[in-house]
Amino acid sequence: MLRRQARLRREYLYRKSVEDKQKNIQAKKDQLKRCLEENIPIHGDLRKEALALQKRIDYEDKGPERAAVIGSFSGGANTQSSQDDEYRYAGVEDPKIMITTSREPSARLKMFVKELRLIFPNSQRMNRGGYEMSQLIHACRANEVTDFIVVHEHRGVPDSLVICHLPYGPTASFTLSGVVMRHDIPDIGPMSEQFPHLIFHNFKTDLGLRTMSILKYLFPVPKPDSKRVITFANNDDYICFRQHTYKKAGKDIELSEIGPRFQMKLYEIKLVPPFLKQPHTLYEIAEQYWDLRSYPTQYVFSLLAQVSEDKLEREKCIELSSPEGQEDWLNYCRRPKRTVLEVLHDFHKSASKLTLEVVFELFSTIKPRSFSIASSCLPSGGRDIDLLVAVVNYKTKLLKPRLGLASNWLKDLKIGDKVFGWIKPGTLVFPKDSSTPHIMIGPGTGLAPFRSLLQEREKLQTAKKDALHLIFGCRYKEKDFHCREELERMVKQDKLTLYCAFSRDQEDKVYVQHKISENKDLLWQLVSNKAYIYISGNAKNMPDNVKEAFVEDVLSKTGGQTLEEARTMLKELETSGRFQVEAW
Ligand SMILES: Cc1cc2nc3c(=O)[nH]c(=O)nc-3n(C[C@H](O)[C@H](O)[C@H](O)COP(=O)(O)OP(=O)(O)OC[C@H]3O[C@@H](n4cnc5c(N)ncnc54)[C@H](O)[C@@H]3O)c2cc1C
Repeated sequence: MLRRQARLRREYLYRKSVEDKQKNIQAKKDQLKRCLEENIPIHGDLRKEALALQKRIDYEDKGPERAAVIGSFSGGANTQSSQDDEYRYAGVEDPKIMITTSREPSARLKMFVKELRLIFPNSQRMNRGGYEMSQLIHACRANEVTDFIVVHEHRGVPDSLVICHLPYGPTASFTLSGVVMRHDIPDIGPMSEQFPHLIFHNFKTDLGLRTMSILKYLFPVPKPDSKRVITFANNDDYICFRQHTYKKAGKDIELSEIGPRFQMKLYEIKLVPPFLKQPHTLYEIAEQYWDLRSYPTQYVFSLLAQVSEDKLEREKCIELSSPEGQEDWLNYCRRPKRTVLEVLHDFHKSASKLTLEVVFELFSTIKPRSFSIASSCLPSGGRDIDLLVAVVNYKTKLLKPRLGLASNWLKDLKIGDKVFGWIKPGTLVFPKDSSTPHIMIGPGTGLAPFRSLLQEREKLQTAKKDALHLIFGCRYKEKDFHCREELERMVKQDKLTLYCAFSRDQEDKVYVQHKISENKDLLWQLVSNKAYIYISGNAKNMPDNVKEAFVEDVLSKTGGQTLEEARTMLKELETSGRFQVEAW
């Protein structure tokens, strides 16, 4: 589904870039034509291309005619913006519409939505419930809904209507006024279920045409003999909505209004994705939604190639986005961890041609980061949460250090700053019986979930050194021994057995797996006593190295099993929940 969406999006952007280029050429041709007709000097920018353009004008130009029709400055057969391209299947496939309300709708708003459902053939009403807008949009997209309509109210009076065309927009927002529902009119005739004919009055400007297409394509194509008519009449930017049925009476036609009635005024058309909570400035989006430190994928280069007007840069982008250019892309982006902003800086000529739509495509949104809670809720009565965060800061062949997004943001917080997040249960499950031996292997910030267990056991006065065995590791004892005082105190009080591996404090590096091998006899004894084993921390090499040490030294050498038997035993421990890993 995601790949399909990405492909469709790519195709859309490609078509759009082609159209944008054609639009540019058309604008130049219009300008040139005017210069020639009015006998005024040709602008310096145009002079070089003037002869080539002049040849093409003779054959294909329809610009001024169309400009006259729509009353705009420029025209041309091929200059329709591909924003309209979102409606390319209109008339071929019937629209599928979902209508809902703002949260906790009043009875009157619910009634209005029922009437709207009757207006739009092939529409469904959905109870809003407690859903987020983004969840609803995802559900609509997954069910191939073409338009999603949300009606809002003020004190029980419907006051705005948002029409979001799916999957990529646009989203048009209208204010509503003068709403008279069918429900308010006594003895109103029955509602026709025929597909309506549409009358659009006074939609001539570019914006008018755009609004018309947004409204028009909410309705399927009617049969010629349909007796139902919907009118959208634009007077001073207020669009009057009226609905009638008609019948012929001899030579005359009898119209009967079947309601509802209302006026709409367009106040916004947005191309940005509707899941962004509105309103936001572009600056806020860049600051809060886009991950500007992410590493660009090859797709980013294909986007740059589409907009680029610089020959050298475009060729390089095409190469970096191609399957053959994968190795170059790895060397240029992935291995040195070059960020998307740095790439835009390097390709600044192409970057200067980015349009808003492409920018939204180019930057990925910030993904949530998980952090294990490093404290028990018991000591503070649930008020405090401790996190143990490693600040990501490392070097590659690039001069500037690479900084992790979330950890550095957390580092720079001031007291009193607000952090929004949510809590989900951790994956490690500890046995209820506190006398069961626990072997906890947690180097670095992997200590976090074990610290919360230790605090809880301490508070419940069930912390015993025979049951709680912690194998901790870090580089230097003096520099990065997290929670040192707390752990050493617990050891002194016989609440914890602690094994430490300080990898850089001596010439030969010592890691947690070495501590496992060193203490294999005791650990085998604990395993034989039904110990639970936990690994938490960096996913790179540590979990595999620890597993290997367990298999070879504890289960095989000390436990007297063959390597194969030891591996099978480890698997059994894993399936029974006695060997658990939480690594990132
Ligand atoms: C269940 C779970 C629990 C977690 N608990 C904790 C926790 O308690 N404490 C904690 O600190 N983190 C924890 N994490 C990791 C945390 O979610 C973040 O991934 C981490 O903080 C880095 O995020 P960041 O935004 O700072 O870095 P990002 O901007 O995401 O950058 C991280 C990326 O930088 C690259 N990188 C990092 N270091 C190097 C290096 N030396 N060399 C080359 N490339 C490198 C890697 O590609 C890495 O994926 C947990 C993750 C999970 C899934």
